[in-house]
Amino acid sequence: MKCNKARVLMSAAVDGELSSTEEQQFLSHLTKCKECTEEFDEAKKTKLIIKERVVRFKAPQSLVNSIMQLTSLSQRETV
Ligand SMILES: [Zn+2]
Repeated sequence: MKCNKARVLMSAAVDGELSSTEEQQFLSHLTKCKECTEEFDEAKKTKLIIKERVVRFKAPQSLVNSIMQLTSLSQRETV
């Protein structure tokens, strides 16, 4: 698997939505690729933060989507 494929699968992986074959391929890429491992750790942290906010405020899905967009925007700005 190449990094770009791994990045595509990453958000589904965070949500635990990969098929077992995809998950195996994804995880085996992570064992070989430090960059994707770091990226995956960040993605999991981001998801935890969003989840926490959703639970606390019982936000509707549209607001969750806005938060996710803001999060990805602010990540881009810091790079
Ligand atoms: Zn990679």
